[in-house]
Formats: sequence, structure tokens, C-alpha cells
Amino acid sequence: MTFSKFGQKFGSDAGITSLMDDLGEALSGESEMIMMGGGNPAHIPQVQHAFKSRLQEIIDSRLEFEALIGTYDPPQGNMAFIRALKDLLNAEFAWDLRVENIALTNGSQSAFFMLFNLLAGEFEDGSYKQIHFPLTPEYIGYSDSGITEDFFHSSKPGIEVIDSGTFKYHIDFEQLQFSDSWGALCVSRPTNPSGNVLTDHEISKLDKFAKANGVPLIIDGAYGTPFPNLIFSEAEPIWNENIILCLSLSKFGLPAVRTGIVIAKETHIKALSSMNAIMNLATGSFGSLLAVNMLKSKEIISLSSQVVRPYYEEKSKRTRDYLMKQLKGIPAKLHRVEGAMFLWLWLKDCPVSNDILYARLKAKGVLIVSGHHFFPGLSAKDRRHWKHTKECLRITYSQQEELVFKGLDIIASEIRLAYESA
Ligand code: PLP
Repeated sequence: MTFSKFGQKFGSDAGITSLMDDLGEALSGESEMIMMGGGNPAHIPQVQHAFKSRLQEIIDSRLEFEALIGTYDPPQGNMAFIRALKDLLNAEFAWDLRVENIALTNGSQSAFFMLFNLLAGEFEDGSYKQIHFPLTPEYIGYSDSGITEDFFHSSKPGIEVIDSGTFKYHIDFEQLQFSDSWGALCVSRPTNPSGNVLTDHEISKLDKFAKANGVPLIIDGAYGTPFPNLIFSEAEPIWNENIILCLSLSKFGLPAVRTGIVIAKETHIKALSSMNAIMNLATGSFGSLLAVNMLKSKEIISLSSQVVRPYYEEKSKRTRDYLMKQLKGIPAKLHRVEGAMFLWLWLKDCPVSNDILYARLKAKGVLIVSGHHFFPGLSAKDRRHWKHTKECLRITYSQQEELVFKGLDIIASEIRLAYESA
């Protein structure tokens, strides 16, 4: 049986599919694998306790329990949650949002699918537009989400070498020349995979660039402000009518609940609601009901900055220091750890490519993600000539520390072997 073109594209193996398969297998409890590959957040006791109490409260209330399992929300999402979020963001950042500026989706992953295909692809006037990533490496999960081919375009970054073991990416504004074939710009902040946090200056320049060229700027804040706030450097949240800000409850601790949030101008929200209705009928109510009181009390912000962020920041320092100690004497560099939950390791001039290292590590019981997946939209020529794409690995440190350190030992010894094989 042959599938349609759509079926072939979305029903076959994609980078994100194998990543999620690896993740599911490793976290199912039936495998001995050390999972340092996916973006699964940690199970933080204080966060889990807060949600457990809230769940009990819902179960004890007939009305809330009925809403939890027995009532469809509108396709824009749960209105009580949307109102509470609007009030919270307006109070914190003076953004002047109305409820018409917010829609919920079943996870932010599905928001990207809808947004990208809304803003790029074939247009009625015969033009064809792409989503442009001003800085790769970028999130693997974007790669396969265009309905048509040749959907993404991206720019290489500037690389600042900070010291012998640390580097940082910047947007290379000198090379950033607008093309009429770009329908929107998109950045993740903090960036998955590198943990880079675009500076306020870079974001403000991008915002002006996008406005001047009449395209929206999508900012993926899955790890960003104001929640879960996995930002270890300084970064101001930003929104205006030309920015589409995507947030999520996943990295705060609710990945299984699937709640994504889009903040945008009204026309975009209307279109998303309509797509939500067609694809999902309604958005799930679970995340909204669990978190709505946390929005009203602002506990979502205090838990993010007092519990969730310090948890990851401290863990990132310990894992970074440990890994660099294990790699002593090897010309490896880590991206400066500024946010998210990953170490992004650059194995400069390593004679073994990252996909081979991935396979060798998997055979030894450690799952990481090969960095070559994280360059969506990069031209074939750039991929061939820019060996950086074959030299990076993404290592997640969110899981149990004992396992993470054991995994880092195995990773470091495999890397050492790879360099020695030259
Ligand atoms: N954006 C980034 C940068 C991510 O890393 C992820 C998940 O790992 C997502 C979006 C999607 O998250 P969710 O669909 O759980 O909201």
C-alpha cells in the first residue's frame, strides 16, 4: 500500500521520531539505557507536590472533576486559564494583552506545526515562503514540520571562543540578508540544543529586522521566561504584535499533560483556534485546570525562579565541571551553559563523526543525540563544508545524577578513544 505524499512525509522516520522512540524505550523502565538524549524534564519533588495537591483538590470538587474529564474546552483553549495568564503577563511585564492574544495547543510542538504551515509554504499569489532560523544549531523538532519540501532556511552562527574549553554562538547579523522568500523568523530562547540564550540586544535587533521586513518573529520560550525560566544568564521577556511567543508547561514539569501556549496578534490566534478545531476539536483541559491557580497566585513564577531554575542551574554546573574534568587534554569545548537542560559539546577536529559516536554510545548503553540533527534549513553545501555539524553532541543532564555521571564517564572514554584513533 502506498501512502499519499503527506503520508509518506509524516508517516516515515524523521529525526524527532527516532529521538522520541529512543526516549520512550529508555524511560519505559524496561531498558538499562542511560537516557541523556531527550528533553524530558526532571521530576522535581516540590513541583510534583504542588500538582499532586492541586489534583486532589480537583478530585474533591464535583464541578472541577467534571470539567477535568467531562467537558470540551473551546478550540482557543480553556478560557479561565487564558484570562489568568493574560492578567499575570500584563501585571509582570505591562504587555497589554487581551484574551484574543492567547491560544492553547496540545503541547507547543503542535503549535509549531500549525504556525509554520500558516506562515510558510505555498501562497495564493504563487509565491513560496520558508521559515528562516537566524541561528543554527536549532531545535530538532522543527525539522520535519513543514507540509511541503524545502520548508526551512537557516543561517550559520558567529562562534565566539571564550576560553580553551568554552564557546558561544551569536547571530551573525552581518550575513543576515533578508529574502522575500522568508515568511517568518524563528528562534528558540534558550536554544535547544546549545543552551545558548540570545541576548536582549540580539532579540531587539531581530525584532526590528523582522518588523522592517514585514514578517513575524517567532520566539520559542519552551525553556524561557517567565516559566519554567531555565535561564542562567540575563534575559528580558519580550512581546509585541509582531512577535509570536510560544510557551509550554512541559519543562516546568508537565510534559505528559501536553499544554502549549501561543501569544500573538488576534489574527494569528483566530487562525490557530480554527486549526485546533479541525485537528483536535478541542485542546486538552488537564494542564489548564492543574495550573490555573498557580497563574492566579503567581506561584508558577516563584516556583520557576526559586525551585526549577536553581535545580537545573546547579545541576548544569556540576555536570559541566565533571565532564570537562573527564575530557582534560582533549580539544573539546562546551557551549557556555546559559539555559535549558543540555550540554552542547563541540569535539573540534574529532576524527570520528557525531553520528558514529552516537551509535557507539548507544551500543554501550548511553543515549545522547548526535548534533547533526540540529541544523534544520542549512543548505546541503553548508552541511558538506561546515564540519561543525558533524562535531557536536547534545547531552541532557536532567535525569538522576548518579546515572548522569555514569553516562558522562562512558561518553568521555568513548570520545578519548575516538581522538586517539586518529
Ligand atoms: N521547543 C523546544 C525548543 C523544545 O525543546 C521542545 C521539546 O523538547 C518543544 C518546543 C516542544 O515541547 P512541548 O510540545 O512538550 O511543549
